[in-house]
Amino acid sequence: MSSDKFKNVAQFFFIWGVLSLVPILYFYLQYRGVEHQIYNLVQQERGINLEFDKQGIMTNTQDVLKTFRVLSDSIVLNNAVTAPNDLNSAVLKDFWRSVLYAQNTLSRLRLVNLQGQELVNVYNLDNNVSAAQSNQLINLNHSNLFDKIKQTQNKTIGVYIVNAQKDHVDLGFSSPIRLVAPLLVDGQRRAYFIADMNTDHLYNKTLSNESKNIPELIDIKGNYLLSKTHTGRLEPESSEKAVDNFATLYPAIWHEMTSLGSGAFKTTLGWISFVQVPLHIVDPNLNDLYLVDMIGNSDIAQTERNHYAALTSQLVAVLAILGLLSVLFLNWNRKHIKNTLEGKLALAAMEGMSAIVITDKNNKIIKVNSQFSRLSGYQLEDVLGKTPSLFSSGKHEAEFYQKMWQDLQTVGVWEGEIVNRRKDGRLLTEILRIQAITDDNHVIQYYVASFVDISERKILENRLREQSEKDALTDIPNRRKFDQVFRGNCYEIQRYPNQKHACFAICDIDHFKSINDTKGHAYGDHVIRSVAQTLKDGLRESDFLARIGGEEFAVILPHTSEEEAQNVLERLRITIYEKHHKKVTISIGYTTMTALAEDVYQRADMALYEAKSCGRNRVNYLANQEHLDLV
Ligand code: GH3
Ligand code: MG
Ligand code: MG
Repeated sequence: MSSDKFKNVAQFFFIWGVLSLVPILYFYLQYRGVEHQIYNLVQQERGINLEFDKQGIMTNTQDVLKTFRVLSDSIVLNNAVTAPNDLNSAVLKDFWRSVLYAQNTLSRLRLVNLQGQELVNVYNLDNNVSAAQSNQLINLNHSNLFDKIKQTQNKTIGVYIVNAQKDHVDLGFSSPIRLVAPLLVDGQRRAYFIADMNTDHLYNKTLSNESKNIPELIDIKGNYLLSKTHTGRLEPESSEKAVDNFATLYPAIWHEMTSLGSGAFKTTLGWISFVQVPLHIVDPNLNDLYLVDMIGNSDIAQTERNHYAALTSQLVAVLAILGLLSVLFLNWNRKHIKNTLEGKLALAAMEGMSAIVITDKNNKIIKVNSQFSRLSGYQLEDVLGKTPSLFSSGKHEAEFYQKMWQDLQTVGVWEGEIVNRRKDGRLLTEILRIQAITDDNHVIQYYVASFVDISERKILENRLREQSEKDALTDIPNRRKFDQVFRGNCYEIQRYPNQKHACFAICDIDHFKSINDTKGHAYGDHVIRSVAQTLKDGLRESDFLARIGGEEFAVILPHTSEEEAQNVLERLRITIYEKHHKKVTISIGYTTMTALAEDVYQRADMALYEAKSCGRNRVNYLANQEHLDLV
């Protein structure tokens, strides 16, 4: 992984981490709060259900007691007690039978005399209402139940919780609650009305509901009355078995429950939600019950798992979104930084030393910088929408511009020296670079031209060059310049061979050594200067004169025939001769120019040699052929 990639990844994780901090903290608290949420859930859901069940039990119990009171005050019962005969007994039996048919909350109605002997017994056994035959009637005396019945006070309804197991006289009844009313005639206790509460039906009806958790029913002493997992007293099969006791099984929880009244708390067994059923409010003789809803750890674990799973998926989703946001942010940030940097760079470049002109794809000016305005004198509003041909100086040929455009279209760049014109008309020599800017499809969209002004430098350069090409003594071109011009002329002849011939001559002052020797070196210099000036004055503007040696001069005569040259050179020779009072003479050798520079020079030199040999102060011509003959 390159360090750049590593940096990107590190940046991503850093931003992601920072962005995720708060959500992670939030979810951490949510995770921690799951237990509390479950408590609330248990409290709300189960608590409401228990409260509902509690109300059901209270109301139903109240209804049963009301029914019992109505029955104990009935005329039919009163008749059977005050006038105990077969008819009244039969009427009572029929009445009770119809009562037991009509409702299910009471399962047995009995009339018992003061000695404990049953007189009438009507019962509902598995939805069959029957009246006991006289031989089926039993005596309750000495039974646990009757001992308690005898202790009841007049005008009260006694309610007894009786353990069904010990009620040996029962016909398979398991109801633990008996309602007893002593029956009085003229203030004297004459008999007892005993009704069995069908608690089985009562509680099951109240509590049985497929859609919800059926709670356990526990009596005031902790005995299970109804339970899914424990043996309860109200269950038919429990008559033979010992009834489980909550208080014995879970003493700590029982202690908590009896002191709280209602609520929910977590135990090692799971969650317990419970409510006390205050039956003592319905009748002081009734004992309170407890409705207990035990939710096992495994049930809760599922709920917990569901909670955690929901939180985890939320967390994952949030982290994923934040991850995506981090990537987007990083990209945006990188672009922003790049743009800012590029913007700064562009600004810096625009305000740099170079003058800048930016044109669009149609080469119309859209932007210039201040340096451009300084150098050219044009402001943006002067040139906006115009093409740079506005600056054209006329110093360049059409081919120059064609080549420039060709380079820009093919290579995308053009660089070179160019002379343009300022707003005030003065020339501006520039080192110019034009760069074509293309889009993603390589189509040119802009041209950025930047240049620096080299006008001053150019002048200096020209001056230096001129100096380096000029002879200091005579102020005419020196040998170096001569070589350049001479070769240029030969090249021209090679290129345009059909042009009129040019001639080339070498002039040498005769016996100069003796001038130096007799008149001194300074005078010699003066003679050289004087000869140079005379030669210069006698030549045309288009002719070229250079000092190529101590007292040797070269003359190029373009577009000049041999005869014309002879005339010109002869005139020069005579002028010098006369000007210096016949004291200074020159000899001249000349020839016709060809493309072969060396050859031309050699022939002129030979012609000069010949002039010297023939007595000096003369002009001598050497033709091409003559040269060949000589060689
Ligand atoms: P010839 O007729 O054969 O040309 O004889 P010459 O004496 O002129 O011989 P040559 O051309 O060989 O002599 C050139 C002399 O010019 C030699 C040198 O001392 C002198 N000379 C060369 N340069 C200068 C210069 O700049 N100033 C002066 N005063 N004399 C120079
Ligand atoms: Mg010489
Ligand atoms: Mg000489």
